[in-house]
Amino acid sequence: MTEITKVEFFKHNIDEEDIRRAGDILRSVFLTTGSAVAEFEQVFSEYTGIPHAVGLTSCTAALHLSLLAGSIGGGDEVITTPLSFCATSNSVIHAGARPVFVDVERKTGNIDASLIEAALTEKTKAIMPVHLYGQMCDMKAIRDIADRHNLLVIEDAAHAIEARRDGVRVGELGDAACYSFYATKNITSGEGGAVCTRNKDMDEAFRMLRLHGIDKSAIDRYTRRYQHWDMPVLGWKYNMDNIHASLLIGQLRRIDELWGRRSRLWEIYEEGLSGTKGVELLDTVSGARHACHLFTVLVDPQRRDAILWELQVRGVGVAVNYRPIHLLSYYRKTYGYREGDYPVAEQIGGRTISLPLYPKMTDDEACFVIKVLKEVLNG
Ligand SMILES: *Cc1c(COP(=O)(O)O)cnc(C)c1O
Repeated sequence: MTEITKVEFFKHNIDEEDIRRAGDILRSVFLTTGSAVAEFEQVFSEYTGIPHAVGLTSCTAALHLSLLAGSIGGGDEVITTPLSFCATSNSVIHAGARPVFVDVERKTGNIDASLIEAALTEKTKAIMPVHLYGQMCDMKAIRDIADRHNLLVIEDAAHAIEARRDGVRVGELGDAACYSFYATKNITSGEGGAVCTRNKDMDEAFRMLRLHGIDKSAIDRYTRRYQHWDMPVLGWKYNMDNIHASLLIGQLRRIDELWGRRSRLWEIYEEGLSGTKGVELLDTVSGARHACHLFTVLVDPQRRDAILWELQVRGVGVAVNYRPIHLLSYYRKTYGYREGDYPVAEQIGGRTISLPLYPKMTDDEACFVIKVLKEVLNG
């Protein structure tokens, strides 16, 4: 066995079969939204168990369109978490509304459902929970609050396609669920996203809004003869194309196998790191199915950046997910947020390091990461 000296932070799982499928599209006539997108939508809807799935260019687009389809805009407020990628709350700003943050649970990093009601105002129109790192939020509690106050629930499921908790799947209790196929997500087409809904009207809105708000798609114009079209509403340019869709179809068929491999690596990390001095792990809710998207450790905030640096010097790819959104310059400037506003998100954001986790990683590579992390912590 060759000695391991480097472990990449991420490697994707596009295989020869996926490449062949994309090659078939590239050799065909029709590249944009057509039969491969329809097939992807069918397979995705079967996997998620949600009747309508709409292929888009990103999860950011999915979040944005969910707000638009829910008629959320100027003067409205949307409750979300400060401990996420900035896409989550940016989508609220894109829709013309205001993101209102609620602090997270110390043990999981997910939005603290028990704090949501105190943040509601007359202007609140929706709750946008993020299933952080692949672990579902308390969706039963969130749905309950939303029902009592007549709010929409838009799930950011970018980390959590495979997750379930308390007997419900990701997306099952939301009005819309938004997924990402960005380069480092559980399945990927480089860039890409989808939105799923149980609501037929929302599905129709998504299909119009993803293509400028026009009432005929390119496939309508292609499969039949040219037809005039109208634009009843103003939409955006967010439609997934056949090339991207073709890369996702095979990965979706392998998704549980890919999850199984990440889940095994997760166990190796947990066994190797639990009880290690200087490292704390987040809790995983018992009985739930964690999508195992990002494995994070919490370290001493005084040493976090030095540890992060030293891991990279020693060949371990790492990332930080996330420094809290409210402390990014734009949010400070625009909304006047300051340090101390969301102390738990700040604590986790100041201590967290994400380790490599992907199906192509070997058990030996996971052991290498554990060994290097322990050396760095003691060094
Ligand atoms: C990646 C990510 C997004 C954005 O996904 P895109 O497909 O790149 O737009 C949104 N939310 C979370 C939590 C993410 O990790």
